[in-house]
This record gives sequence, C-alpha cells and structure tokens, in this order.
Amino acid sequence: MSVLDENIKKLEGYLARFKDTGILNRIAGQDVVGSQGAFQTISPVDKSVICDVAHGDATDIDAAASAAHDAFAAWRDMPAEERKSILIRIADAIEARAEEIALCECWDTGQAFKFMSKAALRGAENFRYFADQVVQARDGQHLKSPTLMNVTTRVPIGPVGVITPWNTPFMLSTWKIAPALAAGCTVVHKPAEASPLTARLLVEIAEEAGLPKGVLNTVNGFGEVAGKALCEHPKIKAIAFVGESRTGSLITKQGADTLKRNHLELGGKNPVIVFDDADLERALDAAIFMIYSINGERCTSSSRLLVQDTIQEAFEAKLIERVNHITVGHPLDPKTEVGPLVSQEHFDKVTSYFEIAKQDGATIAAGGRAVGDEGYFIRPTLFTKAHNKMRIAQEEIFGPVLTSIAFSTEEEALAIANDTAYGLTGYVWTNDLTRALRFTDKLEAGMIWVNSENVRHLPTPFGGVKASGIGRDGGDWSFEFYMEQKHIGFATGQHKITKLGAL
Ligand code: NAD
Repeated sequence: MSVLDENIKKLEGYLARFKDTGILNRIAGQDVVGSQGAFQTISPVDKSVICDVAHGDATDIDAAASAAHDAFAAWRDMPAEERKSILIRIADAIEARAEEIALCECWDTGQAFKFMSKAALRGAENFRYFADQVVQARDGQHLKSPTLMNVTTRVPIGPVGVITPWNTPFMLSTWKIAPALAAGCTVVHKPAEASPLTARLLVEIAEEAGLPKGVLNTVNGFGEVAGKALCEHPKIKAIAFVGESRTGSLITKQGADTLKRNHLELGGKNPVIVFDDADLERALDAAIFMIYSINGERCTSSSRLLVQDTIQEAFEAKLIERVNHITVGHPLDPKTEVGPLVSQEHFDKVTSYFEIAKQDGATIAAGGRAVGDEGYFIRPTLFTKAHNKMRIAQEEIFGPVLTSIAFSTEEEALAIANDTAYGLTGYVWTNDLTRALRFTDKLEAGMIWVNSENVRHLPTPFGGVKASGIGRDGGDWSFEFYMEQKHIGFATGQHKITKLGAL
C-alpha cells in the first residue's frame, strides 16, 4: 500500500466520529448544538461533504462568554505551577495526536501533509513555550520614589475572544490560545467556518489534559454572525484576531461600544528583495519556499519578488524551471508540495488574478491555470514583466502566485518595497552588510529577515505595520496583550499631604 493510501485509510478512521455526530459547539465542557442548526464543511480535495458543523449565533456566543466569565476567577487564581502543568499536558497530548491533527487539517484545508505534519508539532511547541512563562508572567517592577514604594504587577485581562482564519488553523489557534491560557485568561474560540475540524480536536485535547470546564469554549459559525457577536459581547474583554485586513477593520468597529482591546494580525504583500551580490542559489530556494509552500496561503509569504535587473533574466529563468516542477497533488501524499486551495470562493478569487495579470499587461511565465476539476487545484503561478502599480503587485492574492518586478538601484528597490498598503514581513538578500543595515532600517515591515526565509523564534515579536496589523505576539509581547499592568503605591509615611479646608 502506498503512503498516500495508508494516509487515506487512517484519515477515514479519524473522520468516522465526525461523520456520526458532526462537530458540535463546546461550551462549559458540554457539547451543544448550534442555535441556527448546522452547516456543512467541504473538503477542497474532491468537494465532498466532510460533516455537519454547529451553526452558532449570538445565543451560542452569549452562553460561551458566560461560561468563560464564570470559569475565569478559578483559572486566574489557580497556582501558577498547576496551570503550567496543565499546559504541558496539553502539549504532550497534541504531540500524541499529531498525525490525526495533521491528516484532518490536510483534508479540511487542502494543505500538504509535508507541511502540516510539522504544524501540529509547532502547536505543541506553542503550549510548551508559554507553559514555561506561566510562573513569571505576573512578575512586576519595583520603582521606588522618595516617599513611596511603587510596585507593578500584571493581572489577566479576563475572558477573551480568539478569532482565527482557515490557513494553518490549528497552529494559529494554539499561537493565540496558549498564551491566553498561560496568562490566566479564559477563552471563547471562533474558528474559521472553512476549517472547523482541528479546533474541535484542540478543545477536546485540552479538556482531556485537565483544562477545567469553561476555560476554553469553541463556538462554530460565520464571521458576520458568531464572530460579530463575540466582538460585541460585554463579558469578553479583548479580541485576538487573525485574518484579512478588511475584517480587522470590522473587528475594531464591532468592539467600539464595549471598548474592546484588539490585537490584529492581518494580510500582507511581502517583498523578497534579491540584490545581485547575494548568494543567488539560497535566495532562489528561499523565494520559492516562501510563496509556494503552504499553498501560498500564508500571511508571511513573499508574494512580490524584487530582483535586480543585472540578474533578472537568469534568476527568472531558473525560477520558471523550478516552479514548473513543483508537485501539485493530493495533500495526503507526502510527495505533494502544493495541494488544493481551501474553497470554491478562494479558488475563484485566486484564479481571477490570471485574467487580471493579462489585463495589467504582465506575462504569465508559469502556471496560470487550474488542474482538473475534481478539487480546487491550480498550478503554481509566476507573473513576470510586472510593475508595482499593477493589481497583481498591490493586492493580497493568498495563493501560490508570485509577481516578479525588476529594479536597478537600492533606492528604487526600497521605494517599490514600501509602495504597498501592507507591512508584515520583508526578506532581503545581499552580502553587503552596510546595505542590509541601511535597507532594513528603512523597510516598512514588522518582521524582516536578511539572507533567510521566515524562521520563527517564539520569543521574538510577531506582527505587522500599516494594514498588516496592530500589536505583537511572541515572548512577553503576548502577555502584554492578555494582561493588564497594575500599579500599587505604598506610602512610606513621610510625604506632605496638602490639607484642603483646614483652618
Ligand atoms: P477572514 O478575515 O475572512 O476570516 C478570519 C476569521 O474572521 C474567520 O473566523 C471569520 O469567520 C471571521 N470573521 C469574518 N468576518 C467577521 C466579522 N465581521 N466579525 C468577526 N469575525 C469575522 O480571513 P481568512 O480568509 O479566513 O484568512 C486569510 C487572511 O488571514 C489573509 O488575509 C491572511 O493574510 C490573514 N492572516 C494573517 C496572519 C498574520 O499573522 N498576520 C496569519 C494568517 C493569516
């Protein structure tokens, strides 16, 4: 039996329980049907129905927010070592079920097993990393003044909402939920409607690992109904959101009446800038990896290639050859490098750019076509002869689609790189150290890598500028979002208190 056949067989075993019961909401440790009934989740591999999913609305969100509210005090006050050990047990359990998580994720989202097998383990790492921070998360400072002993402490903000997208949904959910729980917050999670499977596995794993009922609640449903209700709910103190920039703007509006604290991780149109003095083989590998892995459905993807005109022709020729050799196929086949796009809607959006590229006057140098009609497969695509004013250079396509733009000078490269509404990541390839320092100083992005693809180190700040987001995750930055700083001043008794009304 081939590995693909083996994986399909294993997947069928894992999916059987979903087919029987569907995916229900999980509120206060109980399975609850959706107030609006159910909707269906579809596999992008063959457009088949995977299972029914609870269709939640404001009623379900209210029940979940109340459960999170009721569970908050006990979770906040649980000794740090106990909370830490629960998070470690969750990490262990994720590792134990990594294969199930990965296979379900591939089937639900179309992501290739090659990458998703690691995404589940990265989810475990997120829990392990933040578990290690639990004990010191509330530590503060001592800021002595002449007459007061000032101390600071940090306290969890309260129940929070976590709203996640469909690209690598398991990893991204853990990225938000692990620090929230480590801080002492309780959570209502609203996963993306297109990818509900692994959110269900996460809440199940967490409860089995000893997370008290109501500390993590999952409500499925659509963004404009369930997501909106979560943003508006008065018992929810903050919203951690990952998704599109225009949704981020809605999140802000919806949370205005309840003065919500929002953390927004949004879209990108990230440049990879290749100067002619760079290690061009490594630059080529990294540029290809950062746009064609994870189906290009990745916020940090390098979707604009800015290549120096002195090397453009040779670099693009090698690029075209490699792109044409990328293996598109069944996501459960370990050889597959690019699987199907997540949904009909997204397939329509991505493929519409093939026509837009032509209208813009660019050349489709590779790909630019769908593959079969069984699922949402497309060939990895490269647009050349493009300039930065074209829609294919300005709009987030969010698929395995790269736009190549030539530049001649460093100044021009910088101007093109910054000429975008977004500012999430940038990748600079040069062996000129001084230029790298100068360039990264002026590049408008929250995260920049020099001579490297995106290599995530959990203690570093993750987030974007401009339309790519507000706020940072990672290390202590996550706790700054999920916690409140508190100052307490203890008088030492000597300072003069101004007497009003005294004769
Ligand atoms: P999306 O904004 O359509 O949906 C994300 C989530 O928001 C879903 O759960 C959806 O149901 C919910 N939602 C939609 N409307 C809402 C509303 N009015 N109120 C509350 N919730 C609402 O995004 P998507 O298409 O699922 O994901 C792709 C996007 O996510 C891309 O733009 C990508 O760049 C971005 N992304 C960003 C990062 C990052 O770290 N910056 C990471 C991954 C993905």
